[in-house]
Amino acid sequence: MPTRALSTAGASALVDALARHGEPAWRARQLQDAIWQPFVSDFEGMLQLPAALRRELAAEFEFSSVVVDTEMLADSGATIKLLCRLGDGQTIETVAMETPAGADSRRRSTVCVSSQVGCAVGCPFCATGHMGLRRNCTAAEIVDQVRAAAGVLHGRGLGPVTHIVYMGMGEPLANAAATLESLSVLTRNGGISARRITVSTSGVVPGIEQLAASGMPVTLAVSLHAATDELRDRLVPINRTYSLGTVLGTASRYAEQSGRRVSFEWCLIGGVNDSIEQAEGLRDLARRAQAHINVIPMNRIEGSPWGPPEPAVARRFLGALRGARVTVRDTRGGDADAACGQLRADLEARRILRPDGTLSPPRVPARA
Ligand code: SF4
Repeated sequence: MPTRALSTAGASALVDALARHGEPAWRARQLQDAIWQPFVSDFEGMLQLPAALRRELAAEFEFSSVVVDTEMLADSGATIKLLCRLGDGQTIETVAMETPAGADSRRRSTVCVSSQVGCAVGCPFCATGHMGLRRNCTAAEIVDQVRAAAGVLHGRGLGPVTHIVYMGMGEPLANAAATLESLSVLTRNGGISARRITVSTSGVVPGIEQLAASGMPVTLAVSLHAATDELRDRLVPINRTYSLGTVLGTASRYAEQSGRRVSFEWCLIGGVNDSIEQAEGLRDLARRAQAHINVIPMNRIEGSPWGPPEPAVARRFLGALRGARVTVRDTRGGDADAACGQLRADLEARRILRPDGTLSPPRVPARA
């Protein structure tokens, strides 16, 4: 059984492996290119390499650490939710989302990756949190979700991948070493600009500091969900360790160091965080931090007391945000079981809160 992960093997490791098989160093470039071709799904498909070498590499390296077990389509095929199986039988979710070009934006293909199997943060409204933490994903498992999703998109005539968001299962900065390694591989070898990658955190302060120290200018999204410590202690339990003030101070330093505007994520939950006071608190925090606000109305989860607010309450909440930079996501696809992960429901058409308090119409997926 091959044991070495192919996607995270460094250039020198590939050169060494090739040398052991009597191959010149320049073959490493060919191999690296083949790893990132969305139409190559195994070593046999690396036709630029000699057949004997392909067999030798297959005995040494694992082509991918994830296998797509199930594909589920939503939004008329614009959203593809993947259940990915890992080597030990655990499963994680990965979502590929196609967003058509708008008047002021280009088409994008976004992949939302999971960073952990389960999550230890335990947000009470989140299905992943209810699982607890089973284990961290390896860097290869994070990277290979992007490769697998790129392959699925390609097979459906979509892609290539333009954006990556770390908003699937798990808290990426509680698994900072693997998250940072995966970011390095995706930007260095995968050809994705750091500026097109978003890492979402519930507020793991040491992880934000590590991300800042890495110098990779990815966008930081803070899953806020509450504008006071009292409420946030309940909704995002890590707040009892890293309070709102500590998290926001660290996020502001991240913005200064990286030159990237931070975004605040707000899962809007009926009767919980949809009051005018919370909206005004959010607006003030965002103004002070010059942050962008993403409001994600919660989907109804069968059998769960958590759900979306009444439309009139949601409108009133949004009205109180006037003056801040706000995007409202209309969740589509019936995907409800996440929070950080609700964003993976970037399954959504984006709607912009205009200065006059009205909402722009949602973008309709170009493909049926
Ligand atoms: S919302 Fe995010 S941080 Fe909270 S339990 Fe779910 S996956 Fe973890």
